[in-house]
Amino acid sequence: MANSPLTFYGKVALVTGAGNGLGKAYALDFAARGASVVVNDLGGNISGTGSGSRAADKVVEEIRAKGGKAVANYDSVEFGDKLVQTALDNFGRIDIIVNNAGILRDKSFVRIKDEDWDIIQRVHLRGTFMVSRAAWPHMKKQGYGRIIMVTSAAGIYGNFGQANYSAAKLGIVGLANTLSIEGRKNNILVNTIAPIAGSRLTETVMTKDMVDALKPEFVSPIVVYLSHDSCEETGGLFEVGAGFFAKLRWQRTEGVLLREANEVLDAEKVRDNWDRITDFNKATYPESSQDSMGKIMQLSNEIDEAE
Ligand code: NAD
Repeated sequence: MANSPLTFYGKVALVTGAGNGLGKAYALDFAARGASVVVNDLGGNISGTGSGSRAADKVVEEIRAKGGKAVANYDSVEFGDKLVQTALDNFGRIDIIVNNAGILRDKSFVRIKDEDWDIIQRVHLRGTFMVSRAAWPHMKKQGYGRIIMVTSAAGIYGNFGQANYSAAKLGIVGLANTLSIEGRKNNILVNTIAPIAGSRLTETVMTKDMVDALKPEFVSPIVVYLSHDSCEETGGLFEVGAGFFAKLRWQRTEGVLLREANEVLDAEKVRDNWDRITDFNKATYPESSQDSMGKIMQLSNEIDEAE
């Protein structure tokens, strides 16, 4: 209903990395709207070393002081089943997951050590997989689930010095694309946001004015809406920050089938048609692999029939 507030009474939300920054804003927002919240945070530093209970505990205290329901979990997202178990043990169910936990190991490409690559994949991509997989059977059984994935502009567009992070973050979009297809029939809806906000991850590269303008609270509204049972969106990718909200999609040029009956198809033919291959004037927006392959197979069959 248009004017009714979005509430979450009876729902259980697990927010990973909720001890700071964006995750904290989501946890507070969910709790204020009646959800029972698992505040997960490993409590380490931004490069993924160390651990502690303080970050999660502080957020739980803040939620409880305002009359909300929350419990802390200090495990790494790499142990997704433990996070989900905390939700089940304390609140009896799991409805919403925000896969928010994250770290950085920024380095130009050849300086990335094996461990810098591996820890970024483990925390972002594998962590997202482990937490989502642990919750999936419960969501399937109850015919309800909302999963928010967190990517980054660095993943979507690339960014100097973030090859490890870019790869993991775009991997998360790939995971979301398939989970949104697999989850649909059980009302498990999966969407991805690429946020921008002032936080300890970004304060070293942002001015104070930027940090002030990019409050995590300006990102939280879309996370809350996408997590609500009234929202039917799935498989979406959204750029969010400073109060700006937008959806992204793939775009494909009209394309050209260069294979012709009884003619050689070679690299020269590709070169000679480069303008047509890359011309976005009659672009289309494939929404599925069937959409994408369908056009290719149709054109290909037309050639075969002409042969
Ligand atoms: P943040 O450092 O303020 O918060 C991240 C939290 O995740 C920290 O509290 C940290 O302790 C926790 N964490 C790290 N590793 C963990 C693990 N293995 N298990 C559990 N918790 C762990 O950072 P933030 O800016 O709020 O970032 C939140 C998410 O948003 C991250 O996934 C980040 O990649 C993404 N993101 C942020 C921005 C931005 O502008 N801030 C931009 C793009 C993407």
